[in-house]
Amino acid sequence: MLRFASLGSGSSGNCLVAEASGTVVMLDCGLTLTETERRLARCGLEPSQVSAILVAHEHGDHAGGAFEFAAAHRVTLHLTHGTLAALKAEGKALDGVALGMVNARQSFFVDGIQLLPFTVPHDAREPVQYVLSDGAAKLGVITDAGISTPHVEKMLSGLGALVLECNYDRDLLWNGSYPRWLKERIGGPFGHLDNRESERLLGALDRSRLKHVIGAHLSQQNNRPELARAALARALGCEESWIGLATQDEGFGWRSI
Ligand SMILES: [Zn+2]
Ligand SMILES: [Zn+2]
Repeated sequence: MLRFASLGSGSSGNCLVAEASGTVVMLDCGLTLTETERRLARCGLEPSQVSAILVAHEHGDHAGGAFEFAAAHRVTLHLTHGTLAALKAEGKALDGVALGMVNARQSFFVDGIQLLPFTVPHDAREPVQYVLSDGAAKLGVITDAGISTPHVEKMLSGLGALVLECNYDRDLLWNGSYPRWLKERIGGPFGHLDNRESERLLGALDRSRLKHVIGAHLSQQNNRPELARAALARALGCEESWIGLATQDEGFGWRSI
């Protein structure tokens, strides 16, 4: 059994944990050290239980707390060469942190959990997202992608659970108060997935084994939970209440596949 929970999701910090056969991996670590520790406890986890941190890309809402947590709790940090180079360029202290280099085309194991990275179009140096598997069921996570691609859709087909970015609603973004350059960045092909693109992406997947779909990385300015939920429910032809949503402060509680 693979179970997973989110400690928080959104532009102020992302962190998801997954556990199988006693191994816990953390996907993104964008909260402060104390906040990450506090929220792990909320999920019933000790920091010492975390075996690995995967950082999807260098943006602060994914990587901001990673080095500090990795150093404090002696956890190996897995990231691509491009993400590492970008973090080094920002002057992040790497002392005392064990690194595992990720090849975006090659899967790897952390004990019994298989991690399958895949590339996404996003405005970072070498961003990846992940499918996690315990050998029986698969969880896919995709946030921070400007658009979907055939490669993304191949990787996300046949999953048992999907955490899918619903960053913004187009009308709310374009009619909102963000400066034009920022609207163009978010809405561009290397920005973020909006409700409509995620609805289309979900509709294009093999959904025959899906037990959980959770909308994530919602903008607090440019989206509304009900709009994201409605879009994903349309793609599945299901009740809106069946769709889960990850929030910035609470994330979401344990689910299992
Ligand atoms: Zn992000
Ligand atoms: Zn990002």
